[in-house]
Amino acid sequence: MMTKKMKALVCRECGKEYPTEAIHVCELCFGPLEVKYNYEEIKASISRESIEAGPNSLWRYKDLLPVEGEGTIGIYAGMTPLVRAKNLGAFLGIDQLYIKNDCVNHPTLSFKDRVVAIALTRAREMGYETAACASTGNLANSVAAHAAQAGMQCYVFIPGDLEAAKVLGNLIYRPKVIEIEGNYDDVNRLCSEIAGERRWAFVNVNIRPYYAEGSKTLAFETVEQLGWQAPDQVVVPMASGSLLTKIWKGLNEFKKVGLLDEVKTKINGAQAEGCSPISTAFKEGRDFFKPVKPHTIAKSLAIGNPADGYYALKTAYESGGAMDAVTDDEVVEGIQLLAQTEGIFAETAGGVTIGVLRKLVKQGHIKKNDVTVAYITGNGLKTQEAVVDAVGRPIRIPPSLSKFDQTFGTQGES
Ligand SMILES: *Cc1c(COP(=O)(O)O)cnc(C)c1O
Ligand SMILES: [Zn+2]
Repeated sequence: MMTKKMKALVCRECGKEYPTEAIHVCELCFGPLEVKYNYEEIKASISRESIEAGPNSLWRYKDLLPVEGEGTIGIYAGMTPLVRAKNLGAFLGIDQLYIKNDCVNHPTLSFKDRVVAIALTRAREMGYETAACASTGNLANSVAAHAAQAGMQCYVFIPGDLEAAKVLGNLIYRPKVIEIEGNYDDVNRLCSEIAGERRWAFVNVNIRPYYAEGSKTLAFETVEQLGWQAPDQVVVPMASGSLLTKIWKGLNEFKKVGLLDEVKTKINGAQAEGCSPISTAFKEGRDFFKPVKPHTIAKSLAIGNPADGYYALKTAYESGGAMDAVTDDEVVEGIQLLAQTEGIFAETAGGVTIGVLRKLVKQGHIKKNDVTVAYITGNGLKTQEAVVDAVGRPIRIPPSLSKFDQTFGTQGES
């Protein structure tokens, strides 16, 4: 008989092990906990074929995800397209560029549908009836949608300055939406306090170890979609830094269970200059970051005191990756460049990723033949404020052929 694939929660600092319950901090050293698996056991049963025969969603990687049974919430999440970006690659001067397009994740159009699928499936297994989160925008949308579908009570906490579409993208599902007079770091602090006194599943607070594992599926899918090969370079947007660290963890787990022979991937991190505690520390060669007060249009990434910042830095150093940041103007340019070369309309986080990708190519860090994957994690229709002044207006004419010809020239003439 299979023993349990989840072995324990383990402290990332001192290694103390805990049962797989709703806890997230080590009681000895206050280090963060993460999920530890029985890799030997998993290795014996997992194969490329068994994965390929699985569902067309992230649940095909269930053996490496922190749930005991089947996926019950978010069963359509993941398996988004890996787009061969020839046009953008040509513009940048690199030959093997791919866009992992999580703009079209189901159901709320961001990569957060992955982490929420795992977190709420696990929350249900642990008997929770109320879902909650501290969010920079996309997470709240995803928690609210999944809670509605699952019939769970729901409380989402957001900062006071979110984009209109992200606020409405909560309200439509009728959760309790609590807008905090403050930034994300204020929201997060309050949520930690509330999580201490109510039996709610705060997906990114008390059940964070399970939630965070969902991000690994971006790495798993990339490898499978590249024909069971790890990329040479990835560019990952950073808010708390969790996604970046989990892409690295996912790649290395595939190697551990025998699905990949080697992992030589350089893990590169991207931030906006107006909130760049992690990339600034990297550029100054430090392994610790200094918290900042965010001022950027990339609101989904605006975490001034990133929970996984230290581990994100470690990951970049360990993998031979780099980090950089872009200005808000470069964010807008990045969004436009991706749209105009590949027909993909990303949110501000995508502009950050493309802007930093561009810089890393220019600096010679990403080379012409490197198989490179840029993670585009959210949809541009949610952050229209960022680009509305940059895209111009339609050409307005009366419904008249002569007026049209006058504007565009007659056929043959233009
Ligand atoms: C949440 C988010 C990220 C990254 O989040 P981490 O906290 O670093 O895991 C990236 N892009 C978008 C669009 C997001 O909403
Ligand atoms: Zn510890």
